[in-house]
Amino acid sequence: MQDDQEFRREIRDWLAANVTDDLRGAGGAGRENEAFSRRLDFTRRLAAAGWSTLAWPVEHGGRGASLQRQVIFHEEYAKAGAPGRVDHIGITMVGPTLMQLGTDRQRERFLPGIATATELWCQGYSEPGAGSDLAAVTTRAELDGDHWVLTGQKVWTSLAHVADWCFVLARTAPIPEGASRHAGLSYLLVPMRQPGVTVRPIRQLTGDSEFNEVFFDGARTERDLVVGEPGQGWRVAMATLGFERGAATVGQQVGFQRDLDDLVALARRTGATDDPAVRERLTRAWIDLTVLRAHTLRVLSAPPSAGTATVIKLLWSRWRQGLGELAMTILGPAGVASVTGDDGEADRWRRLFLFSRADTIYGGSNEIQRGILAERVLGLPRQDRR
Ligand SMILES: Cc1cc2nc3c(=O)[nH]c(=O)nc-3n(C[C@H](O)[C@H](O)[C@H](O)COP(=O)(O)OP(=O)(O)OC[C@H]3O[C@@H](n4cnc5c(N)ncnc54)[C@H](O)[C@@H]3O)c2cc1C
Repeated sequence: MQDDQEFRREIRDWLAANVTDDLRGAGGAGRENEAFSRRLDFTRRLAAAGWSTLAWPVEHGGRGASLQRQVIFHEEYAKAGAPGRVDHIGITMVGPTLMQLGTDRQRERFLPGIATATELWCQGYSEPGAGSDLAAVTTRAELDGDHWVLTGQKVWTSLAHVADWCFVLARTAPIPEGASRHAGLSYLLVPMRQPGVTVRPIRQLTGDSEFNEVFFDGARTERDLVVGEPGQGWRVAMATLGFERGAATVGQQVGFQRDLDDLVALARRTGATDDPAVRERLTRAWIDLTVLRAHTLRVLSAPPSAGTATVIKLLWSRWRQGLGELAMTILGPAGVASVTGDDGEADRWRRLFLFSRADTIYGGSNEIQRGILAERVLGLPRQDRR
């Protein structure tokens, strides 16, 4: 039986052989379009070597790896500078949802495509009038023979422009008299490449377009591609959001450490370290990251408890925003100057600064996360959301 050290060597060797210079550091949040086809190819090789589904149970085609091994994998992945994966929505969101709440047929149909990154997914929840207040979605789906027919609009749909499938929260029945708005919603699996679906990119602060508007105008999906019972989709949608990033959070924090190390190096080169305020902020960033990592490891190895994933999200999102702000201070005018495009290092920090503004919004804004803690952990009175 292989021990953890051998396992670490195995993944390290695999990454050393497969992470070529043109892939190192490419992609990730804020740079999702960078080297996309090369990263897709890399993700497929990762999958073929059995690494992508390390955390999936064996009965669903994964390796059923222990938490310890998942942590090792993500640490080594980040240390090697391996590129941002393109399959994360499938692997961490819809895959586990189908394992827990899908039918056998849905699992047989979709899990292999997710596991091999031959089918990419996007998440169709938010709408112009429904973000934090997700139960307000107005996209409708109606049965027409053996198909659901969808009409409506989604927004901020990350990676919809490259996705083959979308999991969509849609209203399939009116709200029953006296019931909550959560009733009558369904969780549908919808093919993206069909005439009734239009994807329109949204240009974001970085100048890139990683998310989109998605319009459904008579888009169709098969009748049995509803996960859970029709009308019971709220429960399924919440289950998807509940699959914690788990061990991947550790890898993300290894990446944060590299960002911090690089920023310290930049501050030395520019002489910004002469400024006591910069020294103070860099040191604080190091302390906060050390505490965040220790807390994450402690939480991961303890039995699940209410609010822990929420606390980690609140801490890391604010940490990264702070790092972006500090990078702008260190860069000075170079951080904001209009540039010719060949200022690689400044571009990296500018993107981090600009994209990190979104870290406290997506996946549930920080205000909403604090609201959850207030109600579920502190037991404060619930907000009225009917
Ligand atoms: C980079 C990025 C990627 C995204 N990707 C996806 C995706 O792939 N799929 C998808 O479906 N969505 C996606 N989203 C959308 C994201 O989930 C929403 O932006 C988020 O849920 C907030 O909704 P909203 O933008 O409608 O803001 P609103 O809900 O209108 O909120 C506006 C402000 O009011 C505050 N607020 C709202 N309600 C309350 C309350 N009850 N108490 C206290 N404060 C409150 C919020 O915190 C926020 O500051 C993405 C967003 C971003 C930024």
